[in-house]
Amino acid sequence: MGVPLLDLKAQYLELKDELDATVFDVMSNAAFIGGPKVKALEDQIAAYCGTEYAVACGNGTDALFLIMAALGIHKGDEVITTPFTFFATIEAIAHVGAIPVFVDIEPGTYNMDVAQLEAAITDRTKAIMPVHIFGQCVDMDPLLEIAERHNLVVVEDACQAIGATYKGKMAGSLARAAAFSFFPSKNLGCAGDGGIITTDDADLAARARKLAQHGTSKKYYHDAFGTNSRLDSLQAAILSVKLPHLDRWNSERRAAAAVYDELLADTVLELPVVREYGEAVYHLYIVKAESAEMADKVMAALKDAGIGTALYYPLCLHEQEALNTLDGYVKPSLPAAESCNARTFALPAFPGITREQQDEVVAVVRAALS
Ligand SMILES: *Cc1c(COP(=O)(O)O)cnc(C)c1O
Repeated sequence: MGVPLLDLKAQYLELKDELDATVFDVMSNAAFIGGPKVKALEDQIAAYCGTEYAVACGNGTDALFLIMAALGIHKGDEVITTPFTFFATIEAIAHVGAIPVFVDIEPGTYNMDVAQLEAAITDRTKAIMPVHIFGQCVDMDPLLEIAERHNLVVVEDACQAIGATYKGKMAGSLARAAAFSFFPSKNLGCAGDGGIITTDDADLAARARKLAQHGTSKKYYHDAFGTNSRLDSLQAAILSVKLPHLDRWNSERRAAAAVYDELLADTVLELPVVREYGEAVYHLYIVKAESAEMADKVMAALKDAGIGTALYYPLCLHEQEALNTLDGYVKPSLPAAESCNARTFALPAFPGITREQQDEVVAVVRAALS
């Protein structure tokens, strides 16, 4: 029968009337850039995350870049992050001229191993960028304690973690600023590209907003080189309709994860570890095979059965070609992250997935492993 990795058409059909109405509304008002829909979404997201400010922008990559630029991170600075994330995390660091410095990950959660963080700090370190990978928060308390002791700013890459919590607080409210992505496949996705910054820091919010609008202080007066990074009114309108459903979708993801946790517990696959300090939102349900060959075999069987799967991520960031273009980059050895190369892959666990669909996935996985 087949099971997609994510079912975006079903999500549209669920909210079709409301979504169609709001798109029609934007079209008939012809206010496409800025305006009340964008402001409304910013207010909604700030309230949802529990921050003072939210600044909408073009995508999650820009959200990270705008934060880096607004913080004044520049050439020669080092920003500590994780090697197990989407490339955009370090692109934002490189685009302000800084060097990404990688800390190895914890097995099971795939998040930065905070116990190894302090050893990576040098006198050039300016910031730490934890990534709440696959929708589970990094262990922020010890991280923030280290940051404070070394006077470093902390920026969350929360692109995969909207709605996740850490000790009762929302992802996006845990550090100086955070970046979210509304790419269609994210837990809260729009109909194209979109992103937002959350922060309690009024100056940082204002600087990021200015940089997203060509460094404009007053129309056609520019006091900085910024960029063009806006969220379209259409995207904002769509997101405002979807946001009230996010918590339910995230709990459906958790329920789907619990089903796999149970049905795959006795297999050789390593299942995701969830730490007790918070609630994960399972942007992806990731399993780890004992070898790349085993991952290959299971994924081939899934694909043959029409079941969606993909490697996340096939190659760690510290091993990517692009890093060689950075002056002074020395590739570290990060065994925990490297052990994931070509071995960690996703199983369908989208909101609304049925028990029958999950049984089908599990049957194929088990047959391939036997
Ligand atoms: C998706 C993602 C981004 C980038 O977001 P875009 O909206 O695609 O630019 C950054 N970091 C992580 C961890 C992501 O998953």
